[in-house]
Amino acid sequence: MTCETLLRPVAFTGGTLDRADHLRQDEGALAALMAGGQGRLLLLDGIEPRLDGGALVWGDLAQARGAELVFLGLDERGQGAFAPVPPRERSHVGPPSSDLWAAMGSITPGDLATYGLARSLVGWHARHRFCPCCGHATVIAKGGWQRSCTDTACNAHHFPRTDPVVIMSVEHDGDLLLGRQPRFPTHRYSTLAGFVEPGEGLEEAVAREIYEEAGLKVVDVRFVASQPWPFPSSLMLACHARALSREIVMDETELEDARWFSREEVAEAMAARERGADGVAFSAPGKHAVAWHLMDRWLRGF
Ligand SMILES: [Zn+2]
Repeated sequence: MTCETLLRPVAFTGGTLDRADHLRQDEGALAALMAGGQGRLLLLDGIEPRLDGGALVWGDLAQARGAELVFLGLDERGQGAFAPVPPRERSHVGPPSSDLWAAMGSITPGDLATYGLARSLVGWHARHRFCPCCGHATVIAKGGWQRSCTDTACNAHHFPRTDPVVIMSVEHDGDLLLGRQPRFPTHRYSTLAGFVEPGEGLEEAVAREIYEEAGLKVVDVRFVASQPWPFPSSLMLACHARALSREIVMDETELEDARWFSREEVAEAMAARERGADGVAFSAPGKHAVAWHLMDRWLRGF
């Protein structure tokens, strides 16, 4: 399964910047990219890339005012694209701004991918100013793809992290398992999800999450698609699995409801989402969510 086979691009994928890994450790090359007003600076509000009319807002590097700069990559003209690490007091990692969801209908896949890359990477720097090994300050290195401890005895290197999350469609006898969390919009149901824990494989994480949240044993776990989710730094790993039974024992600390929906109910809710409306049986997730892709692909037989 490759992303090319997906019928729609997954939101936050499809970046157009060349990450140019070979330049990250070449301080001379990075300095040349920044010199002479050549580089572009992604303007941020805190760690949030600024949007205007559904497009990212760029400035020049002088606007960084001495902030640490992360190198996002080279644009199609070969210019360096950078983002500033905001000062500590402006580094709060909160939910995404409402501007992002408002722009979802008009922003290009390339801009959305750059938004996600910058938010995740800048957010990581904002949360890793101190060394977890020894507590000394860290400084940016390798164009922002590393932080190094300033204590010479420690000398630890730290790298931007991505947290894997499994999200899964679960089928039994032609029906699909969906659940809702208390924080969801009214009537919304979606595929279940949870963080992969240390010491487990992808398939094990899927089986554990479904058992914990719905009390169901699953088999035939397979990977479907992935999505970077920059809130703050997840990688959604969308999978499909088959349940061995249909009696749900719900985890009421995680979910408000979980139930089986028929193929017809799911198809109707997805068609309603296409019109921007709620379905009869439930309200389907938006197209920016990988859950939408899972449900769409389940309806199409993957
Ligand atoms: Zn250290």
